Amino acid sequence: MFVEDYKRLRDLMVETQLIPRGIKDERVLIAMRKVPRHLFMPESIRYSAYEDMALPIGEGQTISQPYMVAVMTELLELKGDEKVLEVGTGSGYQAAILAELAREVYTIERIASLAEKAEACLKDIGYENVYVIASDGTIGLPDKAPFDRIIITAATPVLPEPLIGQLKEGGIIVAPVGERFSQILVRGKKEEGVIVEEYHTPCVFVPLIGEYGWKG
Ligand code: SAM
Repeated sequence: MFVEDYKRLRDLMVETQLIPRGIKDERVLIAMRKVPRHLFMPESIRYSAYEDMALPIGEGQTISQPYMVAVMTELLELKGDEKVLEVGTGSGYQAAILAELAREVYTIERIASLAEKAEACLKDIGYENVYVIASDGTIGLPDKAPFDRIIITAATPVLPEPLIGQLKEGGIIVAPVGERFSQILVRGKKEEGVIVEEYHTPCVFVPLIGEYGWKG
């Protein structure tokens, strides 16, 4: 496939999967039309990159469904000047979308080989405002905190305490929270030190494994 073919498929993804399901933030739609999702996945499955599904990226992990990436990003209400923490780099695709919409993105991945691949891909495409860190993201990044926004792209039993501590007052955290095999997308806003939660769409993510997530 040629670059223009992928661009056409990306536009179609936005028109058929995102807009009809209610994604409205124009900046999010522009980013979803722009970021070459296919480059973040193994060559053998790139032809499926703009289909309505999560796909395997190796190590038993997945790149999230485009709609889920768009919903989570929209819930973050990014205006352009935020410092964002993502937990669960995976392929690096969500980090690229965030990098289009925020000032700085720190993204943590527990599997070193995925972190390396994602970092190389982000660099090749030309992102200079994304920092990939290979470690346990449930602990966050105390030395870079506080963050305006935090997004967890793996299923967590609860919002990890260290991440709540690293969120700015007035900041937003978005995460799939619940059981190991079924969750609900939660958006928390920090108001006077407390997280006020809203509940959005049901979802299924791979587990967040770490000190403040699942143990294995
Ligand atoms: N955001 C990713 C993307 O755009 O491709 C998709 C993320 S995938 C659904 C979840 C990722 O979270 C996996 O790559 C997994 O290894 C990672 N993960 C799980 N537990 C983690 C932890 N404690 N810290 C950092 N990453 C973790």
